[in-house]
Amino acid sequence: MYDFEIPTDHNPAVQFSLDDRRPRTLSEIVGQEHIVPRLSQAAKNGSLGRRQALVGPTGSGKTTIAQAIARTFFCSRSRELGDACGTCKICLLTSLSNLGSYHEWTGAELNEQWGWWAENGSCILERSTYCFFLDEAQDLSDLHQKALFRQLERARAMVIFATTHENLVNDALLGRFGANKFYVRRPTLAQAVDCMERHCLKLGVVATRDQLAAIAGHFKENLRLCVDFVFSAKDQTPDGLVSDEFVKAVTGVEISSAVPSVRARISL
Ligand SMILES: [Zn+2]
Repeated sequence: MYDFEIPTDHNPAVQFSLDDRRPRTLSEIVGQEHIVPRLSQAAKNGSLGRRQALVGPTGSGKTTIAQAIARTFFCSRSRELGDACGTCKICLLTSLSNLGSYHEWTGAELNEQWGWWAENGSCILERSTYCFFLDEAQDLSDLHQKALFRQLERARAMVIFATTHENLVNDALLGRFGANKFYVRRPTLAQAVDCMERHCLKLGVVATRDQLAAIAGHFKENLRLCVDFVFSAKDQTPDGLVSDEFVKAVTGVEISSAVPSVRARISL
């Protein structure tokens, strides 16, 4: 559907970054059952809105959802699947930032680069094949929020906002997103443990559900931290075998004392 230049130096086989720890498609997203089916159906209907706002606490997965929406927007099979396919050249990119038509900024970064954005932003936003993702939108200054509000009036690009503090984003600016405002929540403990187990299987890490539940509880179901733990376990344990001592060394959590309380919160 779209024409893209894939950078010639890109080789997914040898690149490995934090982004590889994130789900890439809508169907892989954990704990957002109130959001994903709506987005997926919209993609199938060919009416994935050009404005998407994601509101939720740190570590709830806003960035992951935003990037999955962007992949769905770019992937040529999304209408057929209601999701990004996960296997085409676009979907396999380690980072969407390798695409010239994808722009990801934080509010603070955009403040710093406002001179450049004031000159180029409107032109970027007018292109219907472009995607602009503004993370931590609440950090954009009030003056710049007002300017962005005006720019969005004529925008044809896919625009995704994410914020931890909805109350710090200009009402009129947020109003541009209409009904496409989604409240992202942390997954449940059971969902976090299931997700960690899948990563353990993929990486050859061996840990008990008691250990994973204690860790997920310690990290308050912040999936990014939970998944990072599994990667650390792969790198730092003999043969990927997670001991209670390792859990304690990384998190300070004593498994024997944590298990009764996590058992009360999850069926293990
Ligand atoms: Zn694809």
